[in-house]
Amino acid sequence: MTQAANSKVLNVSKLTSLTDLRGVGPALAEKLSKLGVYKPEDLLFILPLRYEDRTRITPIGALRAGDRAVIEAEIELTEVAYRGRRTLMCRVFDGSGSMTLRFFYFSRAQQQGLARGKRVRCYGEARKGPTGLEIVHPEYRLITDTSAPLEAHLTPVYPSTEGVQQGRLRNLISQVLDDNEQLLTDWLPESLLQDQNLPTLKAAVHTLHRPPADAQLAQLLAGRHPAQQRLAMEEILAHHLSLRQIRQRAQRLQAGAMPLPANDATKDLTGRLLENLSFELTGDQRKALDVIRADLAKAHPMMRLLQGDVGCGKTVVAAAAALHAVSAGYQAVIMAPTELLAEQHRDNLQTWLKPLGVELAWLSGALKDKQRTQAYAAIAAGEAQVIVGTHAVFQTAVEYKKLGLVIVDEQHRFGVHQRLSLMEKGASGSHRPHQLVMTATPIPRTLAMTMYADLDVSVIREMPPGRQAIQTVALPDTRRGEVVTRVRAACGEGQRAYWVCPLIGESEVLDFQDAESTYAMLTEALTGIHVGLIHGRMRADEKEQLMKAFSAGDIQVLVATTVIEVGVDVPEATLMIIENSERMGLAQLHQLRGRVGRGAQKSACVMLYRGPLSNHATERLGVMRETGDGFVIAQKDLELRGPGEVLGKRQTGLMQMRVADLIRDAGLLPHIQEVALQLLQEHPDAVAGIMHRWIGAAGEYGNV
Ligand code: ADP
Ligand code: MG
Repeated sequence: MTQAANSKVLNVSKLTSLTDLRGVGPALAEKLSKLGVYKPEDLLFILPLRYEDRTRITPIGALRAGDRAVIEAEIELTEVAYRGRRTLMCRVFDGSGSMTLRFFYFSRAQQQGLARGKRVRCYGEARKGPTGLEIVHPEYRLITDTSAPLEAHLTPVYPSTEGVQQGRLRNLISQVLDDNEQLLTDWLPESLLQDQNLPTLKAAVHTLHRPPADAQLAQLLAGRHPAQQRLAMEEILAHHLSLRQIRQRAQRLQAGAMPLPANDATKDLTGRLLENLSFELTGDQRKALDVIRADLAKAHPMMRLLQGDVGCGKTVVAAAAALHAVSAGYQAVIMAPTELLAEQHRDNLQTWLKPLGVELAWLSGALKDKQRTQAYAAIAAGEAQVIVGTHAVFQTAVEYKKLGLVIVDEQHRFGVHQRLSLMEKGASGSHRPHQLVMTATPIPRTLAMTMYADLDVSVIREMPPGRQAIQTVALPDTRRGEVVTRVRAACGEGQRAYWVCPLIGESEVLDFQDAESTYAMLTEALTGIHVGLIHGRMRADEKEQLMKAFSAGDIQVLVATTVIEVGVDVPEATLMIIENSERMGLAQLHQLRGRVGRGAQKSACVMLYRGPLSNHATERLGVMRETGDGFVIAQKDLELRGPGEVLGKRQTGLMQMRVADLIRDAGLLPHIQEVALQLLQEHPDAVAGIMHRWIGAAGEYGNV
């Protein structure tokens, strides 16, 4: 162990609780605990958002508007001006140029202190003022000795936190850094750090809070500095280890064993469903179903993720799995994230289950009291065998007679915690229901293996036969007019179109096509065609209404931000127009394109872009034109994000991390499992330590 053995011996720290720090009383300790800081060590994991360079003095002559810098100069004139507002203006000169320090709030003492002839050293952001460069409310101090030392390292700027000021936070973190680095146990083996070229924990923490004056600032700001990578590695590892732990615990739990039918001739409900279908399952659907059925036959809870691109046919696999449970005498529940998706499942399942005489119950937040009471009664009595709905299926008031299988659709909207609490809701004694989660988000293998380590994974890659590829083109947005014409023509033939914009309203900062003005433009250009607008600031029921209207054809063109419902099936929608596609990640473009191409008609996706295109953007759009395979796209997505150029960076939505970013740090993933195994075998004490450091305060997953 790197410092582990040492630090345990050396840990003679006085700092055991927050109140041991100078300036921390019970009130501040309470505020800190709200930030997840319970002990001095935790402070070291509040990491700076950015840094200020106060290590050198910039000559005024070299200063440009927008620069944040330290200047040192002599005061030439200080006066109070009354132009609109009482203002203290202090003119300073340093030999290379002069500028103004401007104060709107100032005391008499301050005014007198800033006397002509005094030297002042100050820090702030220079901007253009009425008489040249100025700094408004600089941090300053008067100096008598020009050799007064500057900061030795870059100054950290921490995330602003409720009730704990920047200066206070800096001070507290400094106290911990100065006296008590031995608080930090380095849980990663030295050999590993050397292999990966990563610094020790102590060095990493030091660098991040006090970077040397010559540190790689750009690298730090991008989160790619080895010190950050070191912490990210440990954080990802912590999550991975805790997922493994969840899995181990689940394997010790019991679940209803649902035996496979004795032989093929004895058709159970699943067999009869498949017989009744108007199509054959694809090879991948078959394989996934076989694996699921084998899991269900076991007396331990299945925890399986079924991944498959939009349209690959996950629903029928879910239905077949549900019927397997019903055949074995259990109830199965299928949950979708929105009313609309749940309704779609209900309608599909109803047509499949009815001929088999299987009873379905429907639960949604929108049910009338009487219907709800009826559904609850049927579920409690076991008359309802398959239950479909939204989150309403897990209201505490719902009592299942014998719940054996929980199926969650579009699971990427649910985190680990939800996954676990679902499992608990269906618990009875040491029994848990089997769990199947389905997602249309293709997850690259390395990511799945590290960050879904609590789940087994099945993948459907094959699409049902006869699917038409979606014609995909990239056009400069100067040709928007032609696209409008195309939309008009398509609507004339009874087809529908989505028009997606990155922003809701106009922005002063970002030069993007926004949804509101696009809506106005299309409403005017497409007379006689009903255009709708849907965006993230609307209430859920408003969005739902609009989706329904679009689905029913009352709206033919839907202008949307990127919120359009995942998985909603509108077979008549054949055109997907995407504005500012150059700023979208591949995963997002792929999800959007997947909204069309669901019916018999040929579909198209038009990616409008605002040039000039960066190399990364050109490549991304190229990938979209070349392939429709979600897994290829997901892999490329990890490779092709130019730092900072893609909107909505944290799209993985897997889990909230403090330091790590699963996209940015994808390069670390392949090592994580290996390291995890090594730690489990050789340093089991480190496993608990790492999990506790990164997840502990937030509540360990395994204890949900
Ligand atoms: P998703 O995986 O996105 O949830 P769905 O389950 O909604 O996909 O399936 C999309 C469509 O494909 C549905 O209309 C479904 O009935 C149909 N489908 C599923 N499997 C097959 C198959 N093997 N052959 C033909 N059509 C299929
Ligand atoms: Mg689906």
